[in-house]
Amino acid sequence: LETRIQGEVRELQTGMARVGSLDELRTMVSLRLDAIGDHVRSFLEADERRCEDYRTRAERMRARIVQLEHEAQGLRRTMDDERKQALIDQLTGVPNRQAFDERLAQEYSRWKRFNTPLALIMWDVDRFKLINDSYGHKAGDKVIRAVAQKLKERIRETDMVARYGGEEFVMLLTGASGQDALAIAEKIRAEIAGLGFHFRGERVPITISAGIAQFAEGDTPDTAFDNADRALYEAKNTGRNRCVLH
Ligand code: GH3
Ligand code: MG
Ligand code: MG
Repeated sequence: LETRIQGEVRELQTGMARVGSLDELRTMVSLRLDAIGDHVRSFLEADERRCEDYRTRAERMRARIVQLEHEAQGLRRTMDDERKQALIDQLTGVPNRQAFDERLAQEYSRWKRFNTPLALIMWDVDRFKLINDSYGHKAGDKVIRAVAQKLKERIRETDMVARYGGEEFVMLLTGASGQDALAIAEKIRAEIAGLGFHFRGERVPITISAGIAQFAEGDTPDTAFDNADRALYEAKNTGRNRCVLH
């Protein structure tokens, strides 16, 4: 625009030297002013088009960002869901071994730092192989589900139960001493022994045994597990349908 206007001004200057009459001058000035007007108009039009172009592009970018944010949110949700699913046992719906190990690591560091009591209970269904062999795998699964349900029902919100493998469950009781854990385990054991399982019309008693360990000076998650395991072994060896505190 600047170049064009300078051009017109130059033309005016040289034209003025050439014109012979006032009329001629008037015509020439009027022509040049028209031309300047045209230049300004076309410049403004081009500028308006450019602005419109930027607005469209900015709008498109905003829409794309919103879409990307939406997609990112969806992905985050899927990842959270998958992570949650990966920590749940598919048969029973209670946390699985992986979830338990993660939680145990957390509770262990808390126990080391604050030294509040922490107890571990290892549960194992008695003579479970016999149930599978006599009534089939489906009946066995039903027992595992029912036991998981009972264990879950009987713990506090701050405690945790997980399916550790086949017919084995583990519990973590925060703020519970070994004696507290034993009392709780005994209640649960008696309740499950009293449940009526019916297979092919006959009532089949199901019992479970527990090995309990309280975290003590020098313990690690591994040693506590070994202690609970040893106690469970004793429960099995001394007649089953029992809870033993290490
Ligand atoms: P004990 O009283 O000494 O614990 O005897 P048990 O028969 O319960 O012990 P054992 O460990 O020999 O048997 C466990 C059985 O659990 C063996 C396996 O076939 C069965 N099992 C493991 N996982 C599942 C499962 O998901 N569903 C079913 N139905 N059975 C399972
Ligand atoms: Mg077992
Ligand atoms: Mg068993």
